[in-house]
Amino acid sequence: MKIVLADTILTMDAANPVIRNGAVIFEDEIADITCDRQTIEAWKERALVIEGGRHSILMPGLINAHMHLEFSGNSTDLEYGSFIGWLHSMIEKRDALVGSLTKERVDEALEESLRSGTTAIGAISSYGFDLESLSAAKQRVVYFNEIIGSNPAALDAIFTAFESRVEKSGEYKSDRFMPAVAIHSPYSVHPLLLRKAISFAGAKRMPLSTHFMESAGERRWLDSASGAFKPFFEKYFNLSQPFSSARDFLAAFNDTRALFVHCSYVNAEELDEIGRMGSSIVHCPVSNRLLGGSLLQLEKLKNREIPYMVATDGLSSNITLNLFDELRSALLMHEGLNLPLLSRDLLRSVTNIAARALGINAGTIAEGYAADMLLFRLPGDVSDDLMLYLHAILHAPARIDKVFINGEAV
Ligand SMILES: [Zn+2]
Repeated sequence: MKIVLADTILTMDAANPVIRNGAVIFEDEIADITCDRQTIEAWKERALVIEGGRHSILMPGLINAHMHLEFSGNSTDLEYGSFIGWLHSMIEKRDALVGSLTKERVDEALEESLRSGTTAIGAISSYGFDLESLSAAKQRVVYFNEIIGSNPAALDAIFTAFESRVEKSGEYKSDRFMPAVAIHSPYSVHPLLLRKAISFAGAKRMPLSTHFMESAGERRWLDSASGAFKPFFEKYFNLSQPFSSARDFLAAFNDTRALFVHCSYVNAEELDEIGRMGSSIVHCPVSNRLLGGSLLQLEKLKNREIPYMVATDGLSSNITLNLFDELRSALLMHEGLNLPLLSRDLLRSVTNIAARALGINAGTIAEGYAADMLLFRLPGDVSDDLMLYLHAILHAPARIDKVFINGEAV
């Protein structure tokens, strides 16, 4: 057994959110949380003791529900400012970007994310080039094998290749590595392929994720076959009409509790539908900003009780996989919202909400949860409980002092 002592424990457990001068007793799972001095002293006699020190804060490890590690080679290659400009640059540079990707680069990106406090990730894999790194990662991984394709003549071949990627990732299935399915988007996945992939994920009880309404171009293309996507689809796919409406696309996800990524241009009816399905939304504010998108309106989600989680997206549309950096950006970008309350929501989003959405038994410091935790020091005292969330986001160091996964310091 181990005991970790901290000035403050942010449990993310709504029943018992902040504990002062407390301790957590754990092995791979959390066995107890206490601030009773006698219990703490008794455990200190017979457990490995980890002292957080002055102004220390202990909280659940962060969960980054959406990243694309296969594009970790990008820094200045892609065009930012508009989604369609980015997409053109992506098509032009993708082969070079992915072709020059090394295992070392993926490992480095994973390491950056780990030392900045991310203990679990949802990784979107387009090719399987990240499998070697992710199957051996220290973090928990939900490995989303992505499917994309619209050419009716090639659908069978695309599905077969997808199935074999899923099967390959399935060889690494463990309590730390979960194979899953990602649908690329409503504009890039043929409805037949969409339905096949969704029922495949359902039969195998795999988590499901999809990009949805990321750009104004996507909205206009799906609604009226016009806008910035039109010349793009005419040029590359010889298509003058979308093959799916947003409504039909959404309907295919009924009862899947899928993760809908971005949703910056989602309308009220679609949000109602996402809420009704019990699905959640992944919010990547930096990526959306760099690709010229608008900011997801979090109030609209709150009104419908739709859970959301902040994520970094990949280095193809971000400069970092540090999730605390993303939270700091989110704090500054959502200017209309109450700062301390937003801070609490944001931290919940990347801990217990993300854990629930991905089916991971972590993200909360409470008995029975996996001991995935972060220990670091704030620069000073914070006496107000609500301000703790804000200062945890503002002052979390780029290198977290101690990161525990499954009870082990990594
Ligand atoms: Zn993405």
